[in-house]
Amino acid sequence: MTSWQKLIKNSITHPDQLSRLVDVDPGEIEEVCSIYPMRINPYYMGLIQQTGKSLWRQAIPDILELHDETGMEDPLDEENLSPVPNLVHKYPDRVLFLVSSQCSMYCRFCTRKRKVGRKEMVIDDESIRAGLDYIKKNRAIREVLLSGGDPLMLNDNRLEQILNAVREINSVEVIRIGTRIPCTLPMRVTKKLVAMLKKYHPLYINTHFNHPAEITQEAELACSKLADGGIPLGCQTVLLRGVNDNKHIMQELMCKLLKLRVKPYYLFQADLTRGADHFRTPIESGLEIMHHLIGRISGMAVPTYAVDAPGGGGKIPLTPEFITSLDDNTLNFLNYLGKPYTYPNCPYE
Ligand SMILES: *Cc1c(COP(=O)(O)O)cnc(C)c1O
Ligand code: SF4
Repeated sequence: MTSWQKLIKNSITHPDQLSRLVDVDPGEIEEVCSIYPMRINPYYMGLIQQTGKSLWRQAIPDILELHDETGMEDPLDEENLSPVPNLVHKYPDRVLFLVSSQCSMYCRFCTRKRKVGRKEMVIDDESIRAGLDYIKKNRAIREVLLSGGDPLMLNDNRLEQILNAVREINSVEVIRIGTRIPCTLPMRVTKKLVAMLKKYHPLYINTHFNHPAEITQEAELACSKLADGGIPLGCQTVLLRGVNDNKHIMQELMCKLLKLRVKPYYLFQADLTRGADHFRTPIESGLEIMHHLIGRISGMAVPTYAVDAPGGGGKIPLTPEFITSLDDNTLNFLNYLGKPYTYPNCPYE
């Protein structure tokens, strides 16, 4: 067993283990965990103990998860968009291929909390083969996005088998891995892993940091190993009440990510997931944060704020309004500091 696997094994998964470390009601934790599993690995637990509420909320079960009357089991309609189990085909040219049911920590706000880490999510040789067959038959698929769960929870050999099989499909141009591990268990990113991954270029990794306190020396090291392996890194942050719904926190996070060679990619409005309603913020707070970021920090550090449309409609960018009026002759807008400008329009033919 490698050292990261030992950390997973030593994760907190039972209410009693948790209540020995932090002040929680084990009865309540038990109730939540019977529905939505808990896993907090020792690395992330240490961060919670240093940082407090903003990381706590992401990982520690909350009884509010069981009192959500508005959320949907499957807010993005992924099950209906799955031609075979655990492969979501929503956009014509790319698919989401769920190759692991496990994560190094179960985020309480997870969009897939209906299945991630639960026995309902079965991923075995047969489901992987069915996914690969589907991709092979659909030559319009140019990009395969490995997700889960977390694909980096697979051991190197298993992950390589899958990458290899995807790479053998000629019509697939780009492979993308979605993983929270550089944030939640950065020691998983070993030299050996990177040496394996770089054989499968063009390979992109989108990771997931939500708070500047998650950017530790360990996380920095993990990201620099990946970037040195020639792997372009992006980040998909989720806007979360009581975690990062604050323009100064978000500014610090985005700037720190850019410094790690991680390009902020999306800032997601929290999905309408059942059990995660207490994380949702008004759309206005996302727009205000974007207004604060645009122009103030490097354009490369500004993510696209997006909502993933319920029912599988796809991701829609939400941008604060800068245009005050537009007609055949004139565009009027406010710049990022709120100063008005007039710009001549080009006649429409
Ligand atoms: C988010 C998502 C993608 C990728 O979308 P991009 O905008 O290319 O990042 C692909 N398929 C599914 C099902 C998704 O949810
Ligand atoms: S790492 Fe991603 S898939 Fe896993 S629990 Fe967190 S949000 Fe869900």
